[in-house]
Amino acid sequence: MERRALLCLVLAGCLLAGLVLFILLWAVRGERWAASAFNRHLYNNQGILISGTVLDRNGEVLSTVDEEGDRIYPGDKTCRKATLHVVGDLYGNISTGALKAFAQQLTGYNLIWGAFGAERGSELYLTIDTELNETAYQALDGRKGTVAVYNYQTGEILCLVSSPTYDPLNVPSDLEENDKYEGAYLNRFLSSTFTPGSVFKTVTLAAALEELEDLEDGTWTCSGAVQIGDGTVTCAAAHGEQDIWGALSNSCNVVFGQLAVELGSQTMERYTEKAGLTNSYSIDGISTAKGSFDFTEEASGDLAWAGVGQGKDSVNPCSLMIYMGAIANGGKAAVPRLIQQVDTPGLLPALPRFTHWTKRLIAPDTAETIAEMMVNNVQTAYGTKRFPNMELGAKSGTAEVGGEEKPHAWFAGFLQNEEAPYAFVVLVENGGSGADVAGTVASKVLRAAVGT
Ligand SMILES: [Zn+2]
Repeated sequence: MERRALLCLVLAGCLLAGLVLFILLWAVRGERWAASAFNRHLYNNQGILISGTVLDRNGEVLSTVDEEGDRIYPGDKTCRKATLHVVGDLYGNISTGALKAFAQQLTGYNLIWGAFGAERGSELYLTIDTELNETAYQALDGRKGTVAVYNYQTGEILCLVSSPTYDPLNVPSDLEENDKYEGAYLNRFLSSTFTPGSVFKTVTLAAALEELEDLEDGTWTCSGAVQIGDGTVTCAAAHGEQDIWGALSNSCNVVFGQLAVELGSQTMERYTEKAGLTNSYSIDGISTAKGSFDFTEEASGDLAWAGVGQGKDSVNPCSLMIYMGAIANGGKAAVPRLIQQVDTPGLLPALPRFTHWTKRLIAPDTAETIAEMMVNNVQTAYGTKRFPNMELGAKSGTAEVGGEEKPHAWFAGFLQNEEAPYAFVVLVENGGSGADVAGTVASKVLRAAVGT
């Protein structure tokens, strides 16, 4: 009797444990099970999601399901291309697009009702502004790269374009083999890393302001090149005598290379990590790519080159944009987000979406000084006429990528404008001069963003 009772007890225990495990998994993974592409209630036999509507922040419908149950994109060709990487394609090739990454929210799944009523699906409002995306797409003019603008106080991404792009309703037949479409499925802003060039000087500058005494009283003379170890660090021109403000607006490699060496590899590494450039951020559950840096080669010129954003430096555009937001906002910035609101028919009202904040990326005093210096860059080097009514601070970058290739053009910064607290990043791959090429794209997009 005793043994049988024990056996029954063990069996009952197993049943209970199994039940608990199932309920746990159901609660945690139920959404994922329901949103599986094998679920014929939500996906057709081509694997196309046939539930849910994607809208922009102004309620413009970007993708929905028509009466026949087919997924459609109501916008015109320019709209479809300009929003492709945030909305997503039909077949889930763009893994960071809403149709793939936010499939769970689009199906309106909830724990109690499951995917019941999924024929209607949810209305998912993105934070982006379609018109601004179209402006950015046109400003890139077919060149590879990315443009993004976000509100560093709320986290809303207002503009996000990645290029090359294509029309999801007329997928080019040579998409896989034509160089023109290389990496078209990638959202370069979220998932790629690139040589930063001089935009990285804002990190070396933060370290130098905090670690080197009387930095702002010093002057340096640039003769166009300096010997460091076995290497030579060069500038595009001889910048002559300059203080640190001048060195930043001239983007002087000679000064910043020497500063990096003076700071040493460990300090450079510490400030790069602190700035969040080696982090992966979660953008509504989408993980961004981590940047990577190598400051170990102290003896040769490598550390100096790493300090000016060359060498093995590689940065993710999104993490750079967040750092720009933190400079403008006293050291911390809102973590970007793409989902504005999800309206699900049925029981549950839309939950409020909270703003998440980064940890401290930069000390408040340092952030304030760098912000002033970046505003000075615009006044002395980039031209305020190109950026009216913005209170803009910026840093350009012209990142050498080796070989015969033209350098990557960068322009990154922020607006310290109460009505438009935006940080932004522009990258034109192999575009040439940062201030000219990426600066011109930034000018068009920011003017549209603030309405001037
Ligand atoms: Zn120089």
